[in-house]
Amino acid sequence: MKIGILTIGNELISGRTADTNSSFIARKINQQGWRVEAIMSVGDDFEAIENRLNYLLPLTDAIICTGGLGPTADDITSAAIAQAFELPLYTDENVLNYIKEIFTKYNLRWIENNAKQAMFPQGAEIIANPVGTAAGFVLNIKGKLIFVIPGVPAETIRMMTEGVLPVLRRCFPQNEQYSAKQTIKTFGLSEAAVDDSLKDIDFNALDVSIGFYPVFPENHLVIISRRKTLVEAQRKLKLAQDEITKRLEKYIFHYGEETLEEIVATLLIERKMTLAVAESCTGGLISNRLTDVAGSSAFFERGIVTYSNAAKIKLLGVPVDVIEKYGAVSEETARLMAEGVRKLSGTDLGLSSTGIAGPTGGSPDKPVGTIYLALSDSTQTLCRHYAFRWDRKRNKHVFSEAALMMLKDYCETQISKTK
Ligand code: AMP
Ligand code: MG
Repeated sequence: MKIGILTIGNELISGRTADTNSSFIARKINQQGWRVEAIMSVGDDFEAIENRLNYLLPLTDAIICTGGLGPTADDITSAAIAQAFELPLYTDENVLNYIKEIFTKYNLRWIENNAKQAMFPQGAEIIANPVGTAAGFVLNIKGKLIFVIPGVPAETIRMMTEGVLPVLRRCFPQNEQYSAKQTIKTFGLSEAAVDDSLKDIDFNALDVSIGFYPVFPENHLVIISRRKTLVEAQRKLKLAQDEITKRLEKYIFHYGEETLEEIVATLLIERKMTLAVAESCTGGLISNRLTDVAGSSAFFERGIVTYSNAAKIKLLGVPVDVIEKYGAVSEETARLMAEGVRKLSGTDLGLSSTGIAGPTGGSPDKPVGTIYLALSDSTQTLCRHYAFRWDRKRNKHVFSEAALMMLKDYCETQISKTK
């Protein structure tokens, strides 16, 4: 099944508003296993709308349009579609009464323009709008469906999910109705390198579709299998997942939807461990990410941003001569920061970061992107050192990622030790 998407509005083609509706609709269509033939945008213009519909109609089984259903003079989508297919417009009394009720309920002054939102091309089946006054509709033109829903993104989302998709499923029943999906999260390889590692896998032959989603600094893969039974879909998915794992094992850190901070939080809570963080170059980002997780108070005791040398010395007890001898960005300082914050807080673990986010402050032996991370418990202090190569913002983000990854690895080895 092939779908065309047509978003309508002068604001879209002038660049004032980014067209988020078409990407949302395309994602929904692809999730169903249907294909998007084309995405087009036009202004609020009779001729342009007619041209694009005539272009898309022979190529598709259905067209989904958004926008131009408002009460103002520039909203002409219903009239343009009626004109394109030589259909008269009629007023739907139920919709008209519904709109009038909304006006009464919210004590709004009735202006006759609003009656326009109850006018539809003859033959239209109404799609109710649970969140606004503009109803949508679907027309059957020689066996092809043309859907029209409002352009306000919140309304598009509701009406696409609750109105359009059920009609499409009813009219175009799928024989491969069952789907199984897996998200595979990787860290440490570029998107191109991930793609390259998988290039010998024939996903078509495995009956699985694959999508690449870079979410800096991670790269996510989503594999979907659609089959006649759920068992078969899951079996196919597992085969594809095993092939991917064989090639990317070192870089895969999670199968599923959870974020890295959620994974770390779960591990720490399971082990009943508490954590304090002392951050320099990450400026609180590690603490911020950990406290994004609901329930983080179960493990997160405190986070301190010890940005200056004075703060590292005064708050964490890093000796002045260590900083003078090795530098604030060094393994020695990182270790003492982690140990210091752990002692100060009385937690099971102390984590620290010290590095150079850039763009200035780098040197030949410690270039921009250098990071030292240390993790201290009651028996040992571990340290990791990386050299990344991004700009300031992304360096900070990748530093925090490496820190969370260090916590994850630590917790996992602890768990396997206790088994
Ligand atoms: P309309 O349904 O044409 O009256 O659109 C109402 C508002 O929704 C517009 O002013 C835009 O801000 C927004 N909008 C319309 N179409 C889109 C679209 N394709 N993507 C994102 N926002 C949109
Ligand atoms: Mg508009």
